[in-house]
Amino acid sequence: MTSADASLQTTVVLRMTEPPRIIEVAIPLYLDRTFHYLVPERLLAEALPGRRALVPFGRRKLTGYILGSPAESQVEKPKEILEVLDSEPLWTGNEYEFFRWVASYYMHPLGEVLKTALPAGINVQSRKGSSGENAALTVGKSARREKFYLPGHGLEPARSPGSKALEILMVIRESGDLPAEILRKRFGNPAPQLKRLCELGLVSVEEREVYRDPFKNHTVTRDEPRILHTHQKRALEAISSSLDLNKFMPFLLYGVTGSGKTEVYLQAISNALNHGKSALVLVPEIALTPQLTGRFQARFGGGIAILHSGLSDGERYDEWRRIRRGLARIVIGARSAVFAPLEKIGIIIVDEEHEASFKQSDGLRYNARDLALLRGRMERAAVVLGSATPLVTSIHAAAEGRLTLLELPERVEKRPMPSVDLIDMKGSKETISAPLGLLLAQTVESGQQAIVFLNRRGFATFLLCNDCGKLLACPNCSVTLTYHRQRGQSVCHYCDYSVPAPGTCPSCAAAELKELGAGTEKLEQNLREQLPNARILRMDSDTTSGKGSHERLLSKMNDGTADILVGTQMIAKGHDFPGVTLVGVINAETSLGMPDFRAAERTYQLLSQVIGRAGRGEKPGRVLLQAYDTEHYAIRSAASHDAARFYTQELEFRREAGYPPFTFLALLGISGLSEQTVSEHAEETARLLARIKLDLKVRIELLGPAPSPIYRLRGRYRRQILLKAATRADLHRLILTWRQKSCAVSTIRVTVDIDPVDLM
Ligand code: ADP
Ligand code: ZN
Repeated sequence: MTSADASLQTTVVLRMTEPPRIIEVAIPLYLDRTFHYLVPERLLAEALPGRRALVPFGRRKLTGYILGSPAESQVEKPKEILEVLDSEPLWTGNEYEFFRWVASYYMHPLGEVLKTALPAGINVQSRKGSSGENAALTVGKSARREKFYLPGHGLEPARSPGSKALEILMVIRESGDLPAEILRKRFGNPAPQLKRLCELGLVSVEEREVYRDPFKNHTVTRDEPRILHTHQKRALEAISSSLDLNKFMPFLLYGVTGSGKTEVYLQAISNALNHGKSALVLVPEIALTPQLTGRFQARFGGGIAILHSGLSDGERYDEWRRIRRGLARIVIGARSAVFAPLEKIGIIIVDEEHEASFKQSDGLRYNARDLALLRGRMERAAVVLGSATPLVTSIHAAAEGRLTLLELPERVEKRPMPSVDLIDMKGSKETISAPLGLLLAQTVESGQQAIVFLNRRGFATFLLCNDCGKLLACPNCSVTLTYHRQRGQSVCHYCDYSVPAPGTCPSCAAAELKELGAGTEKLEQNLREQLPNARILRMDSDTTSGKGSHERLLSKMNDGTADILVGTQMIAKGHDFPGVTLVGVINAETSLGMPDFRAAERTYQLLSQVIGRAGRGEKPGRVLLQAYDTEHYAIRSAASHDAARFYTQELEFRREAGYPPFTFLALLGISGLSEQTVSEHAEETARLLARIKLDLKVRIELLGPAPSPIYRLRGRYRRQILLKAATRADLHRLILTWRQKSCAVSTIRVTVDIDPVDLM
């Protein structure tokens, strides 16, 4: 944190009575610097820090962010700004300090940080023939017509429509439909590419009326605070002392599944509101947690802003303004909500703090869990990291006293943890073992519910040609295609490339393809065959892509119109199904095989969470874990509820192998369309880093360049260099110096990921 603090002082935000003539402007581009502009007489009163300005940049007009006025300016002839786009500042002094810290910590341009932090509906790109003001106004209207782009039915063209067009196509396919505004924001001017894609039939376009539809308020019954049990009471008192003292305090609320963590959040927030403060609640994926948001609404009624991924840019902007104006005192949202313009924050909660989705995987690669701690420090708030399976690094931080540990070791009303049996599947051929089949039948018969978990979607994870022995693979990515029987397609889970399936072998045209590796679709079919009378639901990203489908599935489980829920890790997340007494896990080691030092940690967390779905109601739960690797400590510890054993062993491994929390990591990713160029550039980067490392005498281990585990992704070849440092300061110095000395190659993309979570 020290090196970042130092850079906070480089720019002085002037609060002078006389508006300055020269201003410093951050531009949302990948440039490691800010720019100086002159303010013309007519705009002097308006060009104040925190507002956006339309500025000339090369031959373009861009929206920049006015930061303040530079202490001195050596720019010979600064250009004049053209327009000021806001009548009020977009950020407070506190928030500005936060943004600068983020830029420095993640070594990311400030302009890009501001763009990420502010709602998308607010930014205006350079547009011909429209003044900035007009462009800014379009987002304020409540209904208008907008072009939407949808995936077309055209076949893959023989000739590639170009890499930018392909990228645009991927984005459209990924989201199903996209308004033109979003595409413009993401790709600058995508018009030529969109035209070509339309001509090829790969994309179609339609005009739609867009309405602002702020989140529909479900009617909820008010509920009252519960009388807390001893451990909850102790946790609440500790958290409340932060509010009483107006002091930053970071907590790890470590409570087993069903121990009443959410009740502690609710009462702590209630205390914060009573102190005249506001509350920020970060959740992994808001679409997956309708139950949680429902409980907040039931307890607090109005005054809650919910920032979920289903909001359009305009709706998001509306919510943002509502928060900015102080109309919402509780904000619940996924990772980007850490930037919410909430003032007087008394408490920040990070629910399921171990979830990888708090980390943004492109652009500004921030981790909302880590930023919550930083923002809390700046706001002098309580920060509560809650989980039944905390990060290994959090457990270590608690042991060292950097987080205050609050434990809820028992389930509410002393309900027992489920009993778990490990079933050794070595030498066995069936998907569902005999004991699991029997218990499932009994459970359904007695009117109770079961969950069957398999962390793979699709029908078969590979199709193998019986004649030539080749696997059906994606032409754009170095992964195999997954066979989805209902869709009648084999699909790449990374780029969404698909071919009709089962089809024929693309290598030798043989018609007989063998299905290997069962996914949830196959599992569902097996269960239907074995238990013809059971009402079975499947929940994975294939069955939940439609709007509201997720909630529909959950409500069928809740009202008892379903007996068995089959699904991927989606079913492991925070759901409270009191009727579930049996949980079956197929292939407990699925996630152990990942080439990632966190594989054991993820497996332990996932299994513990799935196990925790059983027996949350009055009847005790039972779990059958089917595994081949029955001796692995991650599986054994999860099965025996022996968290201490897992964390001890995992920390030992991290210490020996030199991974966090004992080192600090950064991942440099080097990718491009030419294998040769990527490989050369990666080698050169590594040599330069090694030289700088010697010069600076920093303690850093350089690993690589190595091919990334997914060597090809969306047509790009990928190599990576992992930096392991003894201190953050060393890591920072090395990367900054390397940035200054390295030369960009236009065909190569180089990314820097600080504290990487995804090493694939
Ligand atoms: P967690 O968030 O740790 O999984 P929850 O807060 O969801 O646990 O609590 C599990 C269940 O127990 C919920 O239905 C909740 O309403 C209930 N509960 C929580 N605390 C209490 C309490 N002190 N007394 C009675 N019921 C409680
Ligand atoms: Zn692919």
